[in-house]
Amino acid sequence: MDGRKGYGRLGSVTGIALLKIDIQVEDSDKYKDGETLVKSPGRNVILVYSGNIASRSFWSEHSCLLKELGSFEEDINKVKPEYVKSFEFVRKLLPSTWIVVRIDGRHFHGFSEEHEFEKPNDGQALNLMNSCAVAVMEEFKDIVFSYGVSDEFSFVLKRDSQFHDRHASGIVSVIVSFFSSMYVMKWKGFFPEKELKNPPSFDGRAVCYPTKEILRDYLAWRQVDCHINNQYNTCFWMLIKSGKSKSEAQDYLKGTRAQEKSELLVQQFGIDYQTLPDMFRQGSSVFWDKEDPTERYSDGPDGKSRKKVVVEHCNIIEQSFWEAHPNILDEER
Ligand SMILES: [Mg+2]
Repeated sequence: MDGRKGYGRLGSVTGIALLKIDIQVEDSDKYKDGETLVKSPGRNVILVYSGNIASRSFWSEHSCLLKELGSFEEDINKVKPEYVKSFEFVRKLLPSTWIVVRIDGRHFHGFSEEHEFEKPNDGQALNLMNSCAVAVMEEFKDIVFSYGVSDEFSFVLKRDSQFHDRHASGIVSVIVSFFSSMYVMKWKGFFPEKELKNPPSFDGRAVCYPTKEILRDYLAWRQVDCHINNQYNTCFWMLIKSGKSKSEAQDYLKGTRAQEKSELLVQQFGIDYQTLPDMFRQGSSVFWDKEDPTERYSDGPDGKSRKKVVVEHCNIIEQSFWEAHPNILDEER
């Protein structure tokens, strides 16, 4: 390669690019002098070594690339849509997998202080989150289950969902933006005495889980996290309320196990952890309830009963929940 006409010498440059270019060509003989030539019907793949792909000379020597991608147009009106669109990257989620979109409040520590949320849990703030999740599920029918704790919510889409053609950015952005808008719209209903001082925002991500078992492992992980955090926070804030500083409370709890925290609550504060509200200990599960034949809506199609979204605070780690609600992850639904 060294000294090959038109290419930088490998030994004398610091940045070497190895390009694999799949281009449509009219005259394949043109590339016979290339490093490697692979023929395929109508398209050739060539490997090109270049010392500097940012140089104008590289692009003028490979004018076929400009033909494929569009050229550096002087006049913006002449820019080809295909050229501009060629920069777009679409992440399509694996087919036949359970898509989970988890959203999480951004800077909610400060947000909760600013709005004087009760510590360690503010029931109304959690009810607001749950109400937003119900609205999301009613809006996006492919979501079959959601689980929320603190300032986060996980939305599970049915396995064969074709929502937004399974494009991650589309799915995540509409769920996050709809949830955020709902949070603002519903604020007054939950906090009539409090002004919303700053716009809440949420980040979001989509992850695919290939089997029901792994999906349930994911949900169990979130519920275990809910328990661990809630138990810690309950101890922490009781210590604060009893006069300890934040760092004293942190030191006090450092290295303690679940059983010790449980005993601390009983012995020092007379609190039986198991009697705390289910919503604080178990988080919130939101799902379409089974059809209720006794409840009929006049505006339902053909007078049929309609399913509705319910919020429950229950143990979703145990098999019994899923046995009692087989329709949730039923792929035939
Ligand atoms: Mg957060």
